[in-house]
Amino acid sequence: MPELPEVETVRNTLKHLVIGEEIQDVDIYYERIIQYPTVTLFKKQIKGEKIQDVLRYGKYLIFKLTKGFLISHLRMEGKYFLRENEEKEKHEHIIFYLKSGKTLRYHDVRKFGTMHLYLDLSYEELLKKEPLNKLGLEPFSNSLNTEYLKDKLKTKSQAIKQLLLDQSIITGIGNIYADEILFMARINPKKAGKLLNNDELEKIIKYTKVVLEKAIQLGGTTIRSYSSDGISGLFQNELLVHTKEKCPVCGKDITKIKIGGRSTYYCEYCQKE
Ligand SMILES: [Zn+2]
Repeated sequence: MPELPEVETVRNTLKHLVIGEEIQDVDIYYERIIQYPTVTLFKKQIKGEKIQDVLRYGKYLIFKLTKGFLISHLRMEGKYFLRENEEKEKHEHIIFYLKSGKTLRYHDVRKFGTMHLYLDLSYEELLKKEPLNKLGLEPFSNSLNTEYLKDKLKTKSQAIKQLLLDQSIITGIGNIYADEILFMARINPKKAGKLLNNDELEKIIKYTKVVLEKAIQLGGTTIRSYSSDGISGLFQNELLVHTKEKCPVCGKDITKIKIGGRSTYYCEYCQKE
């Protein structure tokens, strides 16, 4: 599953390739990807729209168009390729025909990806529509502070590891990054969300930014194609606890458990209960 840093890398690469392009037509081979509006309306409305920017909110890519926005979620395996107007390849489910003669292909082996097209609304209004309306704050948002997090977690007795993956609290933290954040903050992943004190909440906010910024930086340097899946090579070398056997701080064995069905790595000594 591409996580926030990978989506950011896709966004950065895609931006240089498609800004200024006009969408002249679209072929849709797998209709369920189009969540809003209907397939017929989607086809009609996107024609003639020019791509002005490529944005990101959490793990969602947002194409800013002349009159609206196209929201795309890559889910498990979604990728974009810019290709000449050549034959459709297997797993290419949506083909946008661009004015330059090139084509933008949405490729998705698992077909879990989604697209929503909204016209005639502002970015602020877009955030209130499906699917963005259910999302919590962006990790880099200025509104993400201890008051916000405290309020979101005050009634939650689930493990903080699980809560960091809850996209309605902070959007864009995936499994690998949650382990790294909690390790840097020296917080036990099993600790109930509502039991975290201000100091711990502050550390979570701080290290969320640190971990994701670093991953974005490294993702940007390794991934040359405009598609990516999984974690980028260079950040993998920087992992402190996820998939590790020994703690880089105290040298003791790393513990591996499941929390909410997800593999969780932590140091029992450095992240005491
Ligand atoms: Zn340790």
